[in-house]
Amino acid sequence: MGSSLTPHPLVEDLLKQPDLTVLTASSPDWEKTRATYIIDNPAQPVAIARPRNAEQVSTFVTAARRHGVKISVRVGGHDVAARSVVDGCLVIDLREINRIGISEDKQTATIGGGILIGDVIKTLATHKLVTPFGYFPTIGYAGWAMMGGYGWLASRFGLGVDQIKRARVVTAQGDIVEADAELLKGIRGAGGNFGVIVELGIRIYPLEKLLAGTILFQTSDIKVCVQKYFAGYNAMKKSPYGGCGPFWFPKQDDLSRWLFGVNFVWSSNDMDAGRQYLQQVAALGDGADTSLVRETTPTELIDLISALSPPRSYGLNAGNAVSFQSITERPAKVIGDFLSKGPVDTANLLLIHEMRGQSAEPHPDSCFGARLPHGVIELIGIVINPANIEASTQRYRELYEALRGTGDALEVTYASLTQTRDTQISKLFGSEYQFVMDLKNKYDPEGLFDNTEPRLRP
Ligand SMILES: Cc1cc2nc3c(=O)[nH]c(=O)nc-3n(C[C@H](O)[C@H](O)[C@H](O)COP(=O)(O)OP(=O)(O)OC[C@H]3O[C@@H](n4cnc5c(N)ncnc54)[C@H](O)[C@@H]3O)c2cc1C
Repeated sequence: MGSSLTPHPLVEDLLKQPDLTVLTASSPDWEKTRATYIIDNPAQPVAIARPRNAEQVSTFVTAARRHGVKISVRVGGHDVAARSVVDGCLVIDLREINRIGISEDKQTATIGGGILIGDVIKTLATHKLVTPFGYFPTIGYAGWAMMGGYGWLASRFGLGVDQIKRARVVTAQGDIVEADAELLKGIRGAGGNFGVIVELGIRIYPLEKLLAGTILFQTSDIKVCVQKYFAGYNAMKKSPYGGCGPFWFPKQDDLSRWLFGVNFVWSSNDMDAGRQYLQQVAALGDGADTSLVRETTPTELIDLISALSPPRSYGLNAGNAVSFQSITERPAKVIGDFLSKGPVDTANLLLIHEMRGQSAEPHPDSCFGARLPHGVIELIGIVINPANIEASTQRYRELYEALRGTGDALEVTYASLTQTRDTQISKLFGSEYQFVMDLKNKYDPEGLFDNTEPRLRP
């Protein structure tokens, strides 16, 4: 291991190759490049490599292996615990591998492994095309899709993981390969555990009209409103075109209160049916304001969410997730109790991703384990005031324990959003657990990619 004065032999080796971009702690852009969504990540990698193509990724992988240095891959840096920038690793930062092309039949997009969700959606939108996408434009598409990929349009087109048609991978040996059916199955759920994904082919769809935005419930008793909403929503007949993501966020000028919103989406051209569906959802809570839901575009939607959210936050241990088959009375009560106390920080958030429809059925060509209708409760205890880190982390930990304590939580979690200590790898993949471990041992016996989420080896 080198000190800041003596460069690591891996770095010395890489710096001899002038066509490679390699940053070290003494590089002017080090802090900017090392920075992830979570600000308080103290990890100091050996170096950050910024390849421009698959061949350069191969050079970096081969060199790291030769020097016995583990790799961590980063793209959007949105892992909830900043686990993509790791102490003592070579970080391969793929953000420059961000091209996108659309097939002539407009059914597939070929994207670089380092492209961000916002760039995928904005490019597709110029062709009146779309694919499911998560709530934040600066999330890396591959990192979002490979481990699950919940978000807008999931009820209609499925999860991100179900959009992956093909992949080009740099293996631990430095080979650049087209994934066969077995490797693709592993990538669809266990992500970058088997190599660096430099290219994906993904499903894309025509989209003419979209009715979307946030329903706001104006209620004096948020606890009662939450229970009423879920009781009604569970009983409601759901449409595959309609999606609902309930969320709670602090009233910005009064930190003693939470606001209750539902991110609503309707993705069929039948706008009259969409407005009826909107009214049905609005009737589930008290004092619904639907004025923020309108005919819109995926681009506007993604810009809207990013305008409302802090670009970066503190709270390395403050994010977590728990999944439930449905939000029944017990978890709804726990959520209501949590909301009865005011938020700790203006960045605090609680939101639910819903999974139902065709993607919730078993898929033999994917190892993603949560193949049943369910909701992922995202416990986002992040803060913008660092003085609040401890209190917020504690408050959200109590919420996590209380939700698990209902006894109704699923054993399968969403690894991307769950703290490592709370992720049970043996449960994550259901009956595909052994398949995943065998594939890991086949492609990465030395553990070069062990820092990838989900972490298969302790
Ligand atoms: C503010 C915020 C909002 C979010 N919203 C949603 C949401 O709406 N829906 C949802 O499902 N999730 C959401 N997430 C979770 C997010 O989708 C995952 O954490 C995702 O893995 C982030 O990808 P990234 O590239 O941005 O992150 P990074 O931290 O850069 O990478 C995360 C992991 O993916 C691996 N990885 C990424 N790309 C590659 C690649 N090309 N090859 C190999 N390995 C790779 C990395 O090794 C790392 O382990 C959110 C997270 C945050 C912080």
